[in-house]
Amino acid sequence: MLSSPSGGGKTSIAKRLVTTRSDVVYSVSATTRRPRQGERDGQSYWFLSRADFERSIAADEFLEWAEYGGNLYGTLRREVAKAIDAGKHVVLDIEVQGAEQLRAKVEDGVHVYVLPPSGTELVRRLVGRGTEDPATVARRLRIASDELGLAGRYDYLVVNDELDQAVAEVANIIEAECRRTRRQTRLDTVVSQFRRDLAAANPERPSGA
Ligand code: 5GP
Repeated sequence: MLSSPSGGGKTSIAKRLVTTRSDVVYSVSATTRRPRQGERDGQSYWFLSRADFERSIAADEFLEWAEYGGNLYGTLRREVAKAIDAGKHVVLDIEVQGAEQLRAKVEDGVHVYVLPPSGTELVRRLVGRGTEDPATVARRLRIASDELGLAGRYDYLVVNDELDQAVAEVANIIEAECRRTRRQTRLDTVVSQFRRDLAAANPERPSGA
């Protein structure tokens, strides 16, 4: 799960990860927000009417959902299931309330908080991308200020100063997490095989054994 204040660069990191690694897929969320220029349905988001989104909530189609800046956003169970069935890592780009819900539901999720190098830089990026009107920018900055208090709830912090470096750091986190012993589903089999190999090679073993 990647979270960051709006303009922090989590979406760019997520998209870059997907294009550079064949073992990572992006979970396309649903939202009631209107598409920005260049955003395509099914690629950036599944763009739904509020009524359709609410129908999906009622049908329990979301793993989590939250309201952000007056719009609804949610992770579709089917997006995550599709990726897991394919044996891939799933990257979710979600705000803090959704991340909180997933902490309770998804035991082995890894939560990464992405921050630009400074608040001034965050403002520069958010204003500079020119996708929001001034009132929306102001609202997003207010939300960012509130959300920052939850940064300590995340497992990792990545400072997104330079995009390639930040992507490399998230990739390192994936690699490290994959090596956790508790994620090694075949560890018992590997240990048993090791013991057999050691016993077979051990000159001290009793003759005829
Ligand atoms: P934006 O409108 O800039 O695309 O996204 C606004 C916020 O909604 C961002 O913080 C983004 O991470 C978050 N968001 C996007 N998809 C989801 C989702 O499926 N669930 C939740 N909880 N937040 C999401």
